[in-house]
Amino acid sequence: MENKIKIDEDLYIGGEEFIFIAGPCAVENLEQIDEIGAFLYKLGIKILRGGAFKPRTDPKSFQGLGIEGIEILKKIKEKYNFKIISEIMDPRDIEIFHDYIDIFQIGSRNMYNYSLLKEMGKIDKPILLKRGMSATIEEWIKAAEYIEIGGNNNIIFCERGIRSFDNYTRNMLDLMSVPIIKEKTNYPIIVDPSHGTGRRELILPATKAALALEADGVMIEVHPNPEEALSDGQQSLNFNEFKELLLEINN
Ligand code: PEP
Ligand code: MN
Repeated sequence: MENKIKIDEDLYIGGEEFIFIAGPCAVENLEQIDEIGAFLYKLGIKILRGGAFKPRTDPKSFQGLGIEGIEILKKIKEKYNFKIISEIMDPRDIEIFHDYIDIFQIGSRNMYNYSLLKEMGKIDKPILLKRGMSATIEEWIKAAEYIEIGGNNNIIFCERGIRSFDNYTRNMLDLMSVPIIKEKTNYPIIVDPSHGTGRRELILPATKAALALEADGVMIEVHPNPEEALSDGQQSLNFNEFKELLLEINN
């Protein structure tokens, strides 16, 4: 039997409903999150994503707003009654996350960070565990066991693509992990077609495939003006594109 992960009264990941998590790659400022929040709220989206601490390959690129970003998320959470997901990179931030963030995201780069995973085992919030970009499925499942052993079994897997020889897509979205994780674990799995493809035109087909494979949902980067996004604009949908995607999937 699959573990449904409770996010709120009547909101589960791993239940009947295919869940859409949406929002920008990074929290850039209050106005941006407010604009995105108002848009997603109107569409009935219940879980808003936004990175405050950004794990960037280049240390000179935008690293996120940090605590200020978390405070912005909190304001918008309260304004529109969202549940919030954001990436935690450092166990020293657990306390502030605990007060404001509903789902703790462990990013691809930290899937192997066993001390962080052990800390996630001690908290009582859902953990979204992204697949390491070079992790085998077995390694990914073992990473979840680190969390589980600590006593937290509110785990959601997230397939976000793995590195391959072909960089036409940013990553190779390994959708076969969806039925495999479902067979080998009791946890739900969602798909991240934004990081999984790195190309906005592939987000819709990847979402259709995730749905067909009975994934529990998708997490999609949405930005009012992707060309000007501080990170991951090329894989973010603008408002119109996201609305079209929802229409197409829900029909
Ligand atoms: C993200 O979700 O913005 C992110 C950094 O993802 P990943 O850890 O999969 O690269
Ligand atoms: Mn991103």
